[in-house]
Amino acid sequence: MHLSRFPRVSLAHLPTPLEHLPRFSKHLGGPEIWVKRDDCTGLASGGNKTRKLEFVMGDALRSGADTVLTVGAVQSNHVRQTAAAACKLGLACEVLLERRIESASEVYTSSGNVLLDRLFGAVLHEYPAGSDFETLLDEHAARIRKGGGKPYVIPGGASNRIGALGYVNCALELLAQANERGLVIDHLVSATGSAGTQAGLIVGLKATHSNVPLLGIGVGAPQALQEQKVFDLAIETAAFVGAEGSVERGDVVANCDYVGEAYGVPTAAMNDAVLTLARTEGLLFDPVYSGKALAGLIDLVQKGYFGEAGNIVFLHTGGSAGLFAYADQLKFD
Ligand SMILES: *Cc1c(COP(=O)(O)O)cnc(C)c1O
Repeated sequence: MHLSRFPRVSLAHLPTPLEHLPRFSKHLGGPEIWVKRDDCTGLASGGNKTRKLEFVMGDALRSGADTVLTVGAVQSNHVRQTAAAACKLGLACEVLLERRIESASEVYTSSGNVLLDRLFGAVLHEYPAGSDFETLLDEHAARIRKGGGKPYVIPGGASNRIGALGYVNCALELLAQANERGLVIDHLVSATGSAGTQAGLIVGLKATHSNVPLLGIGVGAPQALQEQKVFDLAIETAAFVGAEGSVERGDVVANCDYVGEAYGVPTAAMNDAVLTLARTEGLLFDPVYSGKALAGLIDLVQKGYFGEAGNIVFLHTGGSAGLFAYADQLKFD
């Protein structure tokens, strides 16, 4: 694989740190836990979409676009990072926001990521949950073209084969860090949503024959659907980078037992996990993705899922800006 063959712009602070969490590991009483700090990618408070946007925005510039158009939930971290990247590159940014959470509070609809989207001057169009966003994206793109603009449509989460390259790259970066310090990674764990992160990682891990198993922890869809989505994108991404045949269906594992009621709705286990990491390690995790994934990690360690594993790396995908939108829903005592 030779990723510099693909158009790319520099947006992220790379490599992100790989850090040991001694106090949290001791608290858990199991394997040593490490975090790959993709919350520190540096763009507008960081997160995993920045790596994907390096390749997606590279492709947008190559296409001659002057406007990026994307879609996400009201508290989308992807939208926030896209809006910031557009500013940095001098592009306009329009966004379709899905009101996925009914009965959302005032703080949810105005603070956190939305506040930052507005700060970056993104044009926000709000729609009810379940709207036909594929058609809406086409319609908005047509409108922008009619007005003389050149739109470039970025799918939700920047999860297509171009965005997934960012996580092929992350897998290579992580393996290089581990090799350099003599760390054996027994398991890699990450939140999985729109699938680009897990798909890119699995391609990178498999194409290098790393033998590092990857566990995705779902935040919305049921397991069968989530795994299929990741697998389909992994196959497409593998072909795109010339690593056909490297990924098999059995390599894609998602545990979707920690979603709770629905996407974006807090769970008690998430609340506890966010609190534990804050108070043992001074780290910020988010209520929608990394906090639920952490809740899964904690529970699975306690259930012995990882067996005799010595070292587990948890990919911190970011999202802490979203914490502020949940100010009235998190319990801190
Ligand atoms: C988008 C996101 C994820 C999920 O990544 P996907 O590539 O969409 O699967 C995880 N954590 C955070 C904080 C995110 O914003």
